[in-house]
Amino acid sequence: MRVSELYAPTLREVPGEAEVISHQLMLRAGMLRKAAGGVYTYLPLAWRVLRKIEQIVREEMDAKGGQELLMPIIQPAEMWKETGRWDVYGDEMFRLKDRHGRDFCLGPTHEEMITTLVRADVRSYRQLPLRLYQIQNKYRDEIRPRFGLMRGREFIMKDLYSFDRDEEGLDASYQAMYDAYSRAFTRCGLTFRAVEADSGAIGGKGSHEFMVIADSGEAKIVYCSACDYAANVEKAELFSEENPKEAALPLEIVPTPGAKTIEQVAAFLQVDAKKTIKTVAYQTEKELVLALVRGDHEVNEIKLLNELKCVALNLAPQEAIEAKLGKVAGYIGPVNVVGIRIVADGSVMQMYNAVCGANETDKHYRNVNPGRDFKADIVADIRLIQENDPCPRCCAPVKTARGIEVGQVFKLFTKYSHSLKATFLDENGKEQPMVMGCYGIGISRTMAAAIEQNHDDNGIIWPAAIAPYQVIVIPVSAKDQSQLALAEKIHAELMANGIESILDDRNERPGVKFIDADLIGYPLRIVVGPKTLAENKLEIKVRRTGEQLYLTPDSFVGEIQKLLAAL
Ligand code: ATP
Ligand code: MG
Repeated sequence: MRVSELYAPTLREVPGEAEVISHQLMLRAGMLRKAAGGVYTYLPLAWRVLRKIEQIVREEMDAKGGQELLMPIIQPAEMWKETGRWDVYGDEMFRLKDRHGRDFCLGPTHEEMITTLVRADVRSYRQLPLRLYQIQNKYRDEIRPRFGLMRGREFIMKDLYSFDRDEEGLDASYQAMYDAYSRAFTRCGLTFRAVEADSGAIGGKGSHEFMVIADSGEAKIVYCSACDYAANVEKAELFSEENPKEAALPLEIVPTPGAKTIEQVAAFLQVDAKKTIKTVAYQTEKELVLALVRGDHEVNEIKLLNELKCVALNLAPQEAIEAKLGKVAGYIGPVNVVGIRIVADGSVMQMYNAVCGANETDKHYRNVNPGRDFKADIVADIRLIQENDPCPRCCAPVKTARGIEVGQVFKLFTKYSHSLKATFLDENGKEQPMVMGCYGIGISRTMAAAIEQNHDDNGIIWPAAIAPYQVIVIPVSAKDQSQLALAEKIHAELMANGIESILDDRNERPGVKFIDADLIGYPLRIVVGPKTLAENKLEIKVRRTGEQLYLTPDSFVGEIQKLLAAL
């Protein structure tokens, strides 16, 4: 490829619409253009990167017995009605009707489609296990499409589904995929961590997320400073610490004018935030509930949602609170509350002589003793883990980091085979449900995550395995026929040796060509200039380190291969 012919319109300015660096750099490097919110065209350079990531993932899936197929994007509503997800999926599903008024959706995921396929063809245990996958566009009408390719409404996903005879088989499939994911992300040159995850609306038990560690990540993870425990904060298990026992004092009501937040109340009453109870009102699809955590803790909404077995959970609107408790915003608490369910974190039930809102404006209770002064309907682990909390495995303090979820593996067990009646006959001729797993990688999100992790002030720094081209060859002056001829020769020799090269043959100032090369982020740059001709020296620059070295034009290929292998 020649840069003079390449469709990669680079921009000098940072486009206003882009908030995160990967989005900014892809727009500036002429890789990406927006068609609508969360819907993008991948220009040729981006498409090359995406195809490389896909190919790495494909090889790793195939190595674990995966068989690639391609299912339709358009899916009939009937199969979604069979699992009940037509109603549950909500506004995130893109829905459409055909000319006869029949309902369809654009596939946000393919459990229904693949299970319906397999149930029709697989009858016997001899046909199992099966590991089937595809790489394809997915459609989700995200509430907040943002950050470019990180959260698109149309995005590329690899999704594999495993069908086994029993749980032992599922464990083997799960482990195979876990290993394949680790290999794929390592080959892509990413720094990542597999963390224990909640399995969410997709159902089933047992899940890991693969997180690319980056400050811009939307997910928060914890990892142990001593052992290898790591989890999404939403999932992380917690120890409830024992509080020192105290004699219960009589409950009293105290004025706390204007003190609404935990900090204000704690300061006003001169107590530690640990001695206060934080009461948060939530609205589910069924009811208003009060969630209680210690004042210095935060509610883990995922765990709360799981405890309540509801599908929707939002902070209760002001009107809903007022209808139940009166105008007491900022002063709500669990004492003397009737007709509202209370869910308390385990640590709350071990508090003595605590402070909480009195359901009266400008008033709090003091010497609240849970159990004596109020009862909880549910006591459970519903708080978020925090930095320095003890590790649930070994008790050493945990650390927190931000991550971008690039992949997730789930054990589904028989959730879908049960509702869709995907069964087989076992060795004894007995009908059994297939035991399933599902495994997704966000291919387009992985490209964005690679940039979040690999860039500097000048642009992208591609890991060599997924770079659009591995080497750019730049003649300082393309007008100089001898420079151009030598550059052409080097370019051709690289390609003859299987190295992907691009030649910047444009009649531009060298500075402009260098700026574009850095912005697009080719791992190696070879400059052919007057020095090359006079002294027989090619100038090589390593994008990642800025290191410069010189090679002779007659024997450089081996060195370039070595350099690339380390990038
Ligand atoms: P998230 O929690 O980020 O919304 P998810 O849990 O809904 O993702 P999965 O259903 O597990 O996502 O999909 C598998 C993979 O697809 C994710 O790990 C992620 O890499 C990618 N992915 C999911 N949603 C999007 C999106 N809107 N844009 C780009 N990639 C996505
Ligand atoms: Mg996920």
